[in-house]
Amino acid sequence: MIKRAEKIHSKMGDEELLLESNSKVRWDNCPKRSGHAAFIPVNEFRRHHLPAGYQDEELKEFILSVAALTTLITVDYVSPNRPLTVSDSQTPYPFSNRRGLFAKRTGSGMVWEVKKITEKDSEESGTCLCFQCRRSPTPRKEWGLVQVLTAPHVVFDSEEVVCSKFSLFQDSEVNETAENSIDGVETVYTMVDNDASCIKCATHNLDLIDKLETLFLKYLKLYLNVKERFKGPHIDKICIVVSHPHGYTKHVSVGTWSSSEGAGSLLPDTRYTYSTSTCPGSSGSPVFVMGTQWCPIIRPHSCSVGKNNESSVYWG
Ligand SMILES: [Zn+2]
Ligand SMILES: [Zn+2]
Repeated sequence: MIKRAEKIHSKMGDEELLLESNSKVRWDNCPKRSGHAAFIPVNEFRRHHLPAGYQDEELKEFILSVAALTTLITVDYVSPNRPLTVSDSQTPYPFSNRRGLFAKRTGSGMVWEVKKITEKDSEESGTCLCFQCRRSPTPRKEWGLVQVLTAPHVVFDSEEVVCSKFSLFQDSEVNETAENSIDGVETVYTMVDNDASCIKCATHNLDLIDKLETLFLKYLKLYLNVKERFKGPHIDKICIVVSHPHGYTKHVSVGTWSSSEGAGSLLPDTRYTYSTSTCPGSSGSPVFVMGTQWCPIIRPHSCSVGKNNESSVYWG
C-alpha cells in the first residue's frame, strides 16, 4: 500500500489550484481554455448532456445531488508544514515556495458527513466551533459539524483549515455569505501521499445544517440506486467532475476515463486518468467514474498531466 501510494505521489502532475481571486483575464488566458466549452453550469445540466445509454433521470439526479454537496473552498494561508517536494521526487510540492505566507487560492470539495449537535449533546461534544463562536464568551450550544472531502494540496493541515472558508450553493453566482458558508476547524485526516483529505467544519446556522443533512441523505439514496443500476464493467468509461473552475460558479463536466491502475477492481487506491474538463480551481472536486465493477467510484480531482487529468485515490 505504501509502495503504491509513493508511486502515485511521485507522479503528481500540475496541481489545479487557482491563485488569487477569479478573474476574466485568467479565464481568457487559461492554458486549458479549449476545454472551457465542456463546462456545463450546474443549473443548466440536463439528461441530454449525458452520453447515449446514460441519459437516465435518476443518474442525472444523482449527479445533481453530488453537485448540491460540492463546495467552493477559499484558502488564505500556506502552512509552513507543507513538504518542499512531492514525496522523494524533485517536483516542488504545490505552494511550497510560499510556506508561511498568505496566498489566497481556491479549490473544490464535497460535503461528506453532517451531524447536528443539540444543547444536550453539547455537554459532551462542546460548544460551536465556528469562527464567531470561538471568539465569543457565549458560544452557541446548538450547532452542526460538517465533514468536507478534498485534497491536501488544497488545504494541507489545520493551520490552513482555520484560514479556509467553505461556500455552498455557489450555483448561479459566487456570493459567499454567512448564510451559505461553513468554517474550517481542523483536519480529520490527511493522506499526503494519496492526495486525499477530510476537513472538519462547523456552523451554528441550523437551517443550513438541516438542508445539508437532507441533501446528504438524498445523495446516499441515489448513490445506492445508481450503483445497482449501472454496476459494471461496461465498455463505456464515463467520468464526471463537479467543480468550481477558476473559482467561478459550479459546473459539471462529462468525459471519459482512459486508463487507470487496477481498473475494474475494488481497490480503493485506484487512480484514474480522464479527459473530462478541469481547470485551476478544480483541485479536490468530486470525480466519479462509471463502467467499473464498483460503480460509481468517487475520488478527489488531483492534478493535470499533459492533456489528461488525474484523480487521487479513494477518500477514507
Ligand atoms: Zn457558531
Ligand atoms: Zn480554464
